[in-house]
Amino acid sequence: MAKILAASVSFCKFSVNQKPGEIIKEAGIEVDISDKGKALTEAELLSVIENYDGIIVGTDPMTPEVIRKGNNLKIIAKNGVGYDNIHLKAATDQHVYVTYTPGAVERTVADSTFALIFALARNIVLGDRGVRNGDWPRLIGMDVSNKTLGVIGLGRIGKNVVIRSSGFNMDVYAYDPFPDEAFCEQYGVHRVDLDTLFKTCDIVTIHAPLMESTRHIVNERTLSLMKPEAVLINTARGELVDEKALYEALKRKKIAGAALDVFSKEPPVRDHPLFELENVILTPHIAGYSRDALLASGTMVAESIVAAIRGEIPPHVVNKELIGL
Ligand code: NAD
Repeated sequence: MAKILAASVSFCKFSVNQKPGEIIKEAGIEVDISDKGKALTEAELLSVIENYDGIIVGTDPMTPEVIRKGNNLKIIAKNGVGYDNIHLKAATDQHVYVTYTPGAVERTVADSTFALIFALARNIVLGDRGVRNGDWPRLIGMDVSNKTLGVIGLGRIGKNVVIRSSGFNMDVYAYDPFPDEAFCEQYGVHRVDLDTLFKTCDIVTIHAPLMESTRHIVNERTLSLMKPEAVLINTARGELVDEKALYEALKRKKIAGAALDVFSKEPPVRDHPLFELENVILTPHIAGYSRDALLASGTMVAESIVAAIRGEIPPHVVNKELIGL
């Protein structure tokens, strides 16, 4: 009997998303669900990977060593869309499908991005803290309507952010090396270089994938280009932002605020310098966590697992070389 490991911390973990596990079991595949509550380490994966025909991952590190040791693997199914934790070449060399779940989370992450924009702009978190402490602080925020919005990475999530921004009459600037020109035209998006985006925008939001070319795309230099009243939102990947440089920029009020759902190390160390600042909002990588998105993503994962174990080509393959594309 084929057996798979669900390492992803969100696969089948909540009452709302049990169905994907049932789809896999009904296909006669055994599922071990990790109860660790956070990503497995490379050492933990190395000690068990040989036992499995497939694995469902979140941010678990699928390094070349782990993939090579998993000599029974047919599929690595990412329960999400950012697959920077999976070594694609190692998987392809070993004829292991890597799949992901496009279409499941982009609306949710775009909603979360706006939740963070508003929370920052209107001091929601500081206000809540104040009231609970018996204070009644007169916090003065900024409007979101009619502001300039800068979108770095205009893919599925970035586009959903732009679509929402039109309801707030925002003027949108975007940087993407492979822009969808028809979309930009339809929504009146100004395509600009990165420096212009940083200099121009009141709200900068990151939706690019993590790659060598995007690591620390927000750094001391690019932060210095931003306006003092501007804010930064990161719901993409922690390593896109140089956290030390961001800390300095926030502390010295070079920019007005930031909201981060993702960190270079997750969870961040307990005494992370950003924790001492009031002009930053921090959330635990939950921008894609809604009941709807978890169910949609889990169902896509289950369908990919079942297909690959049956010897069929699964949907949503990332390493397209394996299927001759
Ligand atoms: P996508 O692949 O649809 O879009 C990414 C876009 O970034 C593409 O248009 C691409 O051309 C562009 N891009 C590539 N290189 C770039 C560069 N150097 N600078 C700027 N843009 C560049 O991906 P998506 O579904 O929109 O997701 C984006 C990212 O969001 C994912 O890679 C993932 O890391 C992150 N994410 C986070 C969460 C969360 O829970 N916080 C959930 C889902 C996705």
